[in-house]
Amino acid sequence: MSKARVATLWLDGCSGCHMSLLDMDERLLELAGKIDIVFSPLVDNKEFPENVDVALVEGAVSSEEDLEKILKVRAHCRLLVSLGDCAVTANIPSMRNPFKVKDVMNRAYVETATLNPGAPRESVPTLRPQARPIHEFVNVDVYVPGCPPSADTIYTVLTEILAGGCPDLSAKTRFGA
Ligand code: SF4
Repeated sequence: MSKARVATLWLDGCSGCHMSLLDMDERLLELAGKIDIVFSPLVDNKEFPENVDVALVEGAVSSEEDLEKILKVRAHCRLLVSLGDCAVTANIPSMRNPFKVKDVMNRAYVETATLNPGAPRESVPTLRPQARPIHEFVNVDVYVPGCPPSADTIYTVLTEILAGGCPDLSAKTRFGA
């Protein structure tokens, strides 16, 4: 039986959802027999590949780069999993939403700078007016709340998807858990 092609990526998140994924510990070895990680911050692949079976996406869509990424992911994956509260609701990244982008940049790079105040002109993705949840831009197949979702929850999601089912997470996780 061929292995499922699984991708993980983060947009505007803290990487905590990925840390939770790693917390599956020895169950990762079991999963390694069933999946190939074809793209992830955890592996050395720079280009999102085609024909991905499952993509787990952490974080909100906050920048033009995030938007470009999620459109590409959606175009090349069969099942898209919105992983964690930032992906599902925009959560922490959305705390900047009441403010204008220029005021956010000013706060981060000028008002609170102790050295060389000034917003960087290179290597910083252009922020969109607000941080928004993934489903506002692309269709999402599975929502996994939690900040972060537990390793048990992520394991359940992956094993049920791999078995061809649709995970019922009602008793497994909740927002902010
Ligand atoms: S949901 Fe929580 S753990 Fe996951 S990226 Fe957002 S803040 Fe971090």
